Amino acid sequence: MIEKTFVAIKPDGVQRAIVGEIISRFEKVGLKIAALKMVWVDKEFARKHYAEHVDKSFYPGLEAMITMGPVVAMVLEGVEAIALVRKLVGPTEPKAAPPGTIRGDFAHVSYGHADELGIGVKNVIHASANPEDAKKEIALWFSDEEIHDYDTVHDKHVRK
Ligand code: UDP
Ligand code: MG
Repeated sequence: MIEKTFVAIKPDGVQRAIVGEIISRFEKVGLKIAALKMVWVDKEFARKHYAEHVDKSFYPGLEAMITMGPVVAMVLEGVEAIALVRKLVGPTEPKAAPPGTIRGDFAHVSYGHADELGIGVKNVIHASANPEDAKKEIALWFSDEEIHDYDTVHDKHVRK
């Protein structure tokens, strides 16, 4: 039940200087940071990460957004971490994301607004959607040597 998931604070989140606040939310629930780095992705890498979206109408805006500055990429580990992190992140559209979620608390834009301008939906953060994506995304962004195995104080309470 202990899972690893991939998270990236997108360029809009980095540029708004809310990296610390966002990471703090993951630390507070007891998730372990297993890997962490800053990366400025190029278009080729963006196409790999967002392979499922490359042929969609919103992809050009999404690509421009994800390559407009560095992202803070991380691997988080914890009990059923993939679904837990998606819960903390909230729904894709900030307009619809409830207060208390990262997207609901730190962003407000809508699909309608983004589509009208032909830009990506700036929703601050990416998180793997399911176990298959988590595996693929962790392997795409991190080498085995960059992912660390260590104990946090939370492990005392997580283990039997
Ligand atoms: N996105 C967009 N316009 C859309 C749908 C998605 O700009 O109509 C962007 C948005 O930033 C989103 C990302 O593309 O986070 C990936 O979309 P997905 O549906 O996978 O949402 P997520 O998994 O990030 O919640
Ligand atoms: Mg997705």
